[in-house]
Amino acid sequence: MTDLPTHARVVIVGGGVVGTSTAYHLTKLGVRDVVLLEQAQLSSGTTWHAAGLVGQLRGHSVMTKLIQYSTRLYADLVEETGLHTGWKQCGSLSVARSDDRMTLLRRTIASARAQGVEVEELSPQEAGDKWPPMRVDDLKGAIWLPGDGKANPTDLTQSLAKGARMRGARIVEGVRVTGIAQAHGRVTGVQTAQGHISADIVVNCAGQWARKLGLMCGVSVPMHSAEHMYIVTGSVPGVHPDLPVMRDPDGYIYFKEEVGGLCMGGFEPVAKPWGMAGIPDHFAFQLLEDDWDQFEILMENALIRVPGLEAAEVKKFYNGPESFTPDNNFLLGEAPELKGFFIGAGFNSMGIASAGGAGRALAEWIHEGAPTMDLWPVDIRRFAGFNNNPTWLHDRVKETLGMHYTMPWPNLEQDSARPFRRSALYDRLATKGAVWGTKMGWERANYFARSPDQATIRYSFGRQNWHDAAAAEHIATRTTAALFDLSSFAKLMVEGRDALATLNRICAANIDRPIGASIYTGMLNARGGYESDLTVMRLGMDRFMVVTGSAQAVHDADHIRQNTAEGAHVWVSDVTNAWSVLAVMGPDAPGLLQTLSRSDLSAIAPATHATIDLGYATVIANRMSYAGEAGFELFVPVEFTLGVYDALQGELTHAGYYALDSLRIEKGFRAWGRELTSDITPFEAGLGFAVDFDKPGGFIGRDALLAQRGQPLRQRIAQFSVEGAGAQLWGGELLLRNGVPVGKVMSAAHGHSIGRPITLCRVEGDNIDRAYLASGTFEMDLAGQRLAATWHAKPPE
Ligand SMILES: Cc1cc2nc3c(=O)[nH]c(=O)nc-3n(C[C@H](O)[C@H](O)[C@H](O)COP(=O)(O)OP(=O)(O)OC[C@H]3O[C@@H](n4cnc5c(N)ncnc54)[C@H](O)[C@@H]3O)c2cc1C
Repeated sequence: MTDLPTHARVVIVGGGVVGTSTAYHLTKLGVRDVVLLEQAQLSSGTTWHAAGLVGQLRGHSVMTKLIQYSTRLYADLVEETGLHTGWKQCGSLSVARSDDRMTLLRRTIASARAQGVEVEELSPQEAGDKWPPMRVDDLKGAIWLPGDGKANPTDLTQSLAKGARMRGARIVEGVRVTGIAQAHGRVTGVQTAQGHISADIVVNCAGQWARKLGLMCGVSVPMHSAEHMYIVTGSVPGVHPDLPVMRDPDGYIYFKEEVGGLCMGGFEPVAKPWGMAGIPDHFAFQLLEDDWDQFEILMENALIRVPGLEAAEVKKFYNGPESFTPDNNFLLGEAPELKGFFIGAGFNSMGIASAGGAGRALAEWIHEGAPTMDLWPVDIRRFAGFNNNPTWLHDRVKETLGMHYTMPWPNLEQDSARPFRRSALYDRLATKGAVWGTKMGWERANYFARSPDQATIRYSFGRQNWHDAAAAEHIATRTTAALFDLSSFAKLMVEGRDALATLNRICAANIDRPIGASIYTGMLNARGGYESDLTVMRLGMDRFMVVTGSAQAVHDADHIRQNTAEGAHVWVSDVTNAWSVLAVMGPDAPGLLQTLSRSDLSAIAPATHATIDLGYATVIANRMSYAGEAGFELFVPVEFTLGVYDALQGELTHAGYYALDSLRIEKGFRAWGRELTSDITPFEAGLGFAVDFDKPGGFIGRDALLAQRGQPLRQRIAQFSVEGAGAQLWGGELLLRNGVPVGKVMSAAHGHSIGRPITLCRVEGDNIDRAYLASGTFEMDLAGQRLAATWHAKPPE
């Protein structure tokens, strides 16, 4: 029996690389009353058998940033703790077998440079020189990342644990957490076989067991385990101790040197789920059965790339289970269901690489009570309770593992475990040729196919097969009228005597407007950055409907609750599922709707709403447009949706999200998660007009904005069009001024009304003002090709 303390400020559950990194960083921030409980031994879960690759470049810049920090930490930790992490900066190569992969690598070079990651393009021969065992005659080229490397997962974990202990953390092995205590919506401690520990904060770093730990206290931790495999061989000709890591994503495989031989593993396109009956409690330092059938696709590809493997002895087959999330990004942050309960789990086979940065970000979040940087791609609030369904997770995880090396085409949709959430119009829209995408589980029409060859998306980096369909929808919206099913909009009711005061403090605009007002506003954090961008409809004195992005329901409801004063008379409820939203947009929209209603629609002023009759239904008509055209968003009770649709649709073009995106980018409308993130302020976004500094009581973020007012802006969102009607931009491209990188494209589309590509970019520098934007020569880097770009002070006509 271990003598456990009865109280700790923070209890961390799980002694893998993530739990120990969190403990290390908490103590570094001065939070020393930390207890880490590990049911077996440190690193005995998934960490011990990881291959230890640390590759910096990821699909989201925040994840890259976290790993960049990891590489520095892993190099330096030995000086502090005296324990080596096994860090070796051997560099890494990624090779391309196809032209498309090479285009991707060239796009990657541009974005890597924008993020300060050193990178170089190599010819096949140059790649072969760096990696002699490799066959190169079938390659198109490669990229070289000298800052990448590898670490020893067990040594790293021990070194982090020692660093935490040195500053006061207590790390106890052989103690299993069996329950989570809570009271009044707050975590209060943990139960173990050796007794209870009360705690202000509990951190779930339980690896594959994190979902189970979440279920103990009503918290969703959506992830599922899958088998992940690699082999270690005897010596292979050409392999030497300083050999870089090598990835061949077209063959789904990676390699690193291991005592004169190779460690070869990969991410096969269809993974093998594991742990359907739950993860066994006793699974320390264990592996699963070898599965050469599952491994075959990797082995075949490895033999193509490294012919010398044919003669090499296979010394060991590692088949270890690892947890994967529905979108292949990990899960970080405070659970929206339970205050004080934090999660750092679901590391999708990149936990070694990510642990340094993720542990620091999680520790800062705990210490500050809010994220200190933009963590949205890994924020646990991007998922909802329905994502925790085990059958859905099981079916989704088969696809997730392979996503590491799947070609990340622009607009790529995940195919598995769908359809998931469907609007009331799903079947009707399917008969009209809807081609579906998905967001927050919703099936949403991206566009409507006009011919059989548009029925499914054919991905490419160039113009895709839906271009003409989206163009027709875009033009119809600008010239006549089109119907969009926007039912996936998240809708939150905020009600109660203190609802106005609460919302007014959380929103940057003044919400104290007459009943019937529709107020466009940001919700900001203390740094003045965007937590969300939304519309508040004042339905009554004490009743507000917050209409926000499809992915934002859990996040925004949590943000409102987190910032509601203790004891305030306010209820927040998610009513997304009660209301469909049909947007009828275009110059003919108001007239057309008027023919179906006895209400006077001309009496509804811009940025207001009213309850109107429409056919047999009674709906809320909101005069607001994301397309920048006349029209209404109709909020329709779900059971009346089909009736309203049938009354409307005869005369309308159906339009989808691709058209909506090109319409809004043309008009310069910023979108949350693209241009608007938690590290961009309204001034930087060009949305200062939507902030009311003078409203009584102020608002969250006001002080930060006042400090910024009148100061030079170091970043700014700006609109640029691109010369060359046929050029296809997707977002992520590098922006250059006078040949020097100054930013990147956050959103891009073809501007069908203006006849050329149109973008919204984030521009960075010492003083980004209008004079800076109006002078200089701007270009975009499109996979190595430079295109002239023009800044627009106002959206082009
Ligand atoms: C074959 C393979 C190769 C990999 N290669 C790489 C790689 O090259 N690079 C990379 O970055 N990542 C790699 N990974 C992924 C990496 O190993 C994981 O992402 C990482 O180890 C996860 O760390 P963790 O701390 O979240 O989980 P774990 O290491 O599993 O730690 C969680 C700990 O929580 C403990 N625990 C659980 N429940 C309780 C409880 N109730 N009470 C107390 N303790 C509890 C467990 O015993 C466990 O020790 C690989 C994974 C596999 C399977």
